[in-house]
Amino acid sequence: MTSDVAFSLLARDGAARRGRLVTAHGTVETPAFMPVGTSASVKAMRPEDVAATGAEIILANTYHLMLRPGAERIAELGGLHRFMNWPGPILSDSGGFQVMSLAKLRQIEETGVTFRSHLDGSQHVLTPERSIAIQHLLGVDITMAFDECTPFPAAEEEAQRSMELSMRWAARCKAAYRPRPGHGLFGIVQGSIYPALRQRSAAALVELGCDGYAVGGLAVGEGQERMFAVLDETVPALPVDRPHYLMGVGKPLDIVGAVRRGIDLFDCVLPTRSGRTAQAFTRGGTVNLRNARHAADPRPLDAECGCGACRHYSRAYLHHLARAEEILGPMLLTEHNLRYYADLMAGLRQAIERGALAAFAAETAAREEEGDIPPR
Ligand SMILES: [Zn+2]
Repeated sequence: MTSDVAFSLLARDGAARRGRLVTAHGTVETPAFMPVGTSASVKAMRPEDVAATGAEIILANTYHLMLRPGAERIAELGGLHRFMNWPGPILSDSGGFQVMSLAKLRQIEETGVTFRSHLDGSQHVLTPERSIAIQHLLGVDITMAFDECTPFPAAEEEAQRSMELSMRWAARCKAAYRPRPGHGLFGIVQGSIYPALRQRSAAALVELGCDGYAVGGLAVGEGQERMFAVLDETVPALPVDRPHYLMGVGKPLDIVGAVRRGIDLFDCVLPTRSGRTAQAFTRGGTVNLRNARHAADPRPLDAECGCGACRHYSRAYLHHLARAEEILGPMLLTEHNLRYYADLMAGLRQAIERGALAAFAAETAAREEEGDIPPR
């Protein structure tokens, strides 16, 4: 019996990997995209409908759940899988990113972060040990180390201070983490856009020994070119036999480019959030259904898509729902967008298996140019 999540590599195409991650709650074929279930809900979707899109693992947010309804409450009710009726694998973030982006009056010290809730102003403390304890209470399959998300841009000295703090916190997370079969602890590489810092961070985490390795602190405004440059410097420093996770990314072409650089796991609010603002990702590029050009269009959103929104409804109807602000609009578009992302990941997996990733990437990039909204 292994004490962690099992990861196997099935095929490779250049630096890209086709893998399989086996957790206590099921198997994830990689490269994989994780829909974001912030407050124990993938917004506008039933869990069974999320699974029907092809998603095999979802992400939960420690920060949101610790504030409401509270990690102890979820544990009393049988853990997060049961609480939200998602029987599959769950990865939780550590709370670090949301503390930086949402909380008020935060104070960062060596011990951890003291902050006030964005909901009611109540004071909380999040330390590496408390973050791990919360993620244990949630009962998630994959626990993320608690880190400081370095702001962008950051001078090299600031990025170094922040990265070194995150590495000391990672060691405390490892000490607090309780290994269980089918569960794992992932470390997070920081270091902003500085290659030497990224490589020192990766080396520190490898020395510590993690079940998987995430690249953090990207998709914060640095742009696709810089993000890919950081991946080119960082991913080769990560163990080949462990999963690689790019946090908070991204647009379809960001994902394709990162897969080509050896990333296996992704999460992003984009498909779900866009679904609530009438934006749809399609094989004909990104579409804004509020645009008048869709008002009388009887065609489906994406003729090649098998989701319920594309099988049963016209662009004209989806346009109407968006204009009338009917709740069904976000429901249908979220379903479609998650299906599009799941299909994109399945296409990437098949392309890697066939050794045809370069052609798949070129075709995806060409299709992205056709939409209402530029791909980058
Ligand atoms: Zn669809």
